Amino acid sequence: MTVDRENYNYVDMLALESIIKVLDDEYGVGSNFERIIEGRPSVKDIISIYKLPLPLLGYISSRITHIISGKKVSYIVNMILNYTNVCVVGCKFCAFYRKPFSRDVYKYSIDEVVKNVVETWKKYKIRQVLIQGGVDPSIPLEYYEEIFRRIKSETKNEVAIHGLSVVEVYWIAKTNRMSIAEVINRLVEAGLDSLPGAGAEVLSDRVRKLISPLKPSTSIWINVMDTAMKLGVPISATMMYGHLETLEERAHHLLSLLELQRKRKLIMAFIAWNFEPGRTELEKTIPYPAGGSELLRNIAISRIVFRHEIPWIQAGWLTAGERLAQVSLTYGANDWGGTLYGEKVLPATGLSLPLLVRSRIENIIRSAGFIPFERDNWYRPVSN
Ligand code: SF4
Repeated sequence: MTVDRENYNYVDMLALESIIKVLDDEYGVGSNFERIIEGRPSVKDIISIYKLPLPLLGYISSRITHIISGKKVSYIVNMILNYTNVCVVGCKFCAFYRKPFSRDVYKYSIDEVVKNVVETWKKYKIRQVLIQGGVDPSIPLEYYEEIFRRIKSETKNEVAIHGLSVVEVYWIAKTNRMSIAEVINRLVEAGLDSLPGAGAEVLSDRVRKLISPLKPSTSIWINVMDTAMKLGVPISATMMYGHLETLEERAHHLLSLLELQRKRKLIMAFIAWNFEPGRTELEKTIPYPAGGSELLRNIAISRIVFRHEIPWIQAGWLTAGERLAQVSLTYGANDWGGTLYGEKVLPATGLSLPLLVRSRIENIIRSAGFIPFERDNWYRPVSN
């Protein structure tokens, strides 16, 4: 299913005059909201609606989503392959990584990665593998190329490769003394289909210095994604909230993504997830994860700000859990995400994950009053 309506007039379509009046009379933010819904948001406008009551945000965001995709909610049968936990970046919010030469490091060989993907494809008919790892500068570019080529040939091109975060691409370029464009071109040539949005966290250099000082800066993150899209590679975008960021920084983050989307139009989806402090360095400062209402609030705000321009907003069941993710479908989310077979990053924080199969996901979506459809890597419907 594609979202093909170009000219949205949300004020007419949602009969929003009455909502704007309520927002103005009761909260004094009618004009802020009007600017956002007309596609002219400012940081101040976004902050003003962050403070609105959650049920109101849910109502508005679900109405917008209904215009975009009706009652349809997509999901994908996929797996995650975390090829190594070795990482020299050492983010303070990450429980997954290990320093090189630690006792419990692992690194899959090319054969192990390919075998794992091919077996999962045969067992579950996955349509996508999300490949991400830590940053291990000793891994050559050829490792990824060989993996991508073999996955494509051994799954008869049935498995799309959604792989490597900005930080991995950046380090590959750095250690191989290549440009970002050269690295992306080589990876695409080998079979890369799209880039996941991981590594954005919150696009603020102040925050990055506090939670992941060795990660590439905000401008590098944007530049890598911009380069990928310029080369025709679609991406997804993310935001990890609930740590040291301010509302203003969240608003800037959303605006940066919107600007990027208006320039390249290849951001397929947005995923907001909350920081999980378990077993991380940041746990000493932030011992508890943001609550469920924060997830719903961020999903609703992202839908209102991105409207149809970033058509798919993910429910984020991985960190939210199935039940809250189900509720998020009434707060602007219209994509469930994937089955995520093989995920290792969240279990590292101490959370356990359910095994989600097609029928279980479809049941969750249906029982929330929506119509599930299975999609591919590019959000197109597929049938079995
Ligand atoms: S989030 Fe990624 S880059 Fe940061 S420490 Fe974990 S694996 Fe490394």
